[in-house]
Amino acid sequence: MNSEDVKKPAGETCIICDTEKAKGIHLYTSFVCTDCETDMIQTETEDPKYAYYVDKLRRVKTPPLYS
Ligand SMILES: [Zn+2]
Repeated sequence: MNSEDVKKPAGETCIICDTEKAKGIHLYTSFVCTDCETDMIQTETEDPKYAYYVDKLRRVKTPPLYS
């Protein structure tokens, strides 16, 4: 068994839904799952949900500072 060549089965934690997903895209150092990515694209800009996504993504660009 060459376990080092096998990818991690758990995947990564999505920054939008906070769920571990195997498939998704990387934004900077963060991970967005395919489900959220698709949902985001289909969300209208006037939809309140869109602001929620934007807020989540904003945290990707500017990580919280711990002082
Ligand atoms: Zn997600």
